Amino acid sequence: MKAFYQLCILIGLVIKTHSGPVPLSSILDGRSCQFHQNYLKKLYNMKEEHTRSARSTDHSVSEMSEKLSEMQEFFGLKVTGTLDAETLEVMKKPRCGVPDVAGYNDATGSYKWTKKQLTYRIENYTSDMTQEEVDSSIGRALKVWADITPLRFSRIYSGVADIMISFPVRDHGDGSPFEGEGGFLAHAFVPSPAIGGDAHFDDDETFTFSSSKGYNLFLVAAHEFGHSLGLDHSRDPGALMYPMYSFRDVENFLLPQDDVSGIQALYGPNPDKPERPVPKPPVTPNACDDTLVLDAVTMLRGEIMFFKNAFFWRKQPLSYESEQHLIKSFWPEAPDNIDAAYESPSDDLVYLFKGQKVWALYDYDIAKGFPKTLSSIGLPPKVKKISAALYDQESGKTLFFVNDRYYSYDETTKKMDKGYPKRVEDSFPGMTGKVTAAFQYRDFTYLFSGPRMFEFSYGTLLRVLNNNYFLPC
Ligand SMILES: [Zn+2]
Ligand SMILES: [Zn+2]
Repeated sequence: MKAFYQLCILIGLVIKTHSGPVPLSSILDGRSCQFHQNYLKKLYNMKEEHTRSARSTDHSVSEMSEKLSEMQEFFGLKVTGTLDAETLEVMKKPRCGVPDVAGYNDATGSYKWTKKQLTYRIENYTSDMTQEEVDSSIGRALKVWADITPLRFSRIYSGVADIMISFPVRDHGDGSPFEGEGGFLAHAFVPSPAIGGDAHFDDDETFTFSSSKGYNLFLVAAHEFGHSLGLDHSRDPGALMYPMYSFRDVENFLLPQDDVSGIQALYGPNPDKPERPVPKPPVTPNACDDTLVLDAVTMLRGEIMFFKNAFFWRKQPLSYESEQHLIKSFWPEAPDNIDAAYESPSDDLVYLFKGQKVWALYDYDIAKGFPKTLSSIGLPPKVKKISAALYDQESGKTLFFVNDRYYSYDETTKKMDKGYPKRVEDSFPGMTGKVTAAFQYRDFTYLFSGPRMFEFSYGTLLRVLNNNYFLPC
């Protein structure tokens, strides 16, 4: 046991400070040490015995480092092989209990059903929801896959179904015990006889029907059934098969392109004509797309946040790496496809704008009283939406852009300045187009117009850059 703790202390020493959107103040004690070891053992096939013997400590450290690197690579984190704060933050997110590495749980994606008609049975229920709500969530989750494949699902009420669905807690006899509330939410087994295809949902979690609170059973189940049908985890942060739970729009849910491609590679498309036209599956925005037009850009506690559709990238200004996330994975109540964003350092809030509404973000929450209307901050009623916003450190003013004009807002008095709107070009010569996004970093002001970024210093245009100048491809 001594070696075990030595190893933990060693890992503990390499924790770095971090100034991300959510400050992380995790102190590694014995419990959290066990936590990250269990994580790597369960999900990255780290061998248990290495941590037990004092002689193998060096080996343990190198294996731990190797597994951490593997995990960091999977999640697009900086590959350090050490347990830094970002890595620990990712590990602590609620997720699916199926391993991320192929070959461990046979979840290689090469397993598939050889028949198209599959049966499912709901063995027991969670008390979090009504039985009708559970039935409906499960039925809709299977329909997500049936809609785009030749697979068809029918429910049976007794006997052994291909997909046996249950809500167990803790140890439930399959060698993968749940650990109470938090951590792993559910797991499912790849297609095969017996336990193959079965899906288990940890009943120590709180599952919900339609709300963004707790874990939405439809979303968790749709993910698990992806495994039941033979899919592995995806590295695409927009994919349903991404290992981490994220709330999404349940009402208008559309299976992302990555998942559609994955399942159709196994089973082919749906041969039946759809009842109504099927919208195109959403695609995760790609920083390598040089026609990419960002929705909004803002600073957030020293990082730059780039928003596009349902996603944002976060990046340290001087780093070459960026992380991409669903907006709703950080702020379930925040809107997608925003118009503008800015950080008010005096309020320690980030404001998001969409249409005539404004949201204020504080840590993982929406600040009380939000969303508010644009007119509540003093913009005239004729402004139906803004196209960009930035906080100017020098003057303490926030500039609200409406295409090629802008308003000025005094953050101290919380009032709009008189004499606006002004033409953007009058204050930023050379900026003739519409401003589609804006932010300020150090003494430079960056105004985006479509895929181009205009760099200003005190009102003088210095350079015209591509928008991947800060957002590496
Ligand atoms: Zn999973
Ligand atoms: Zn299980």
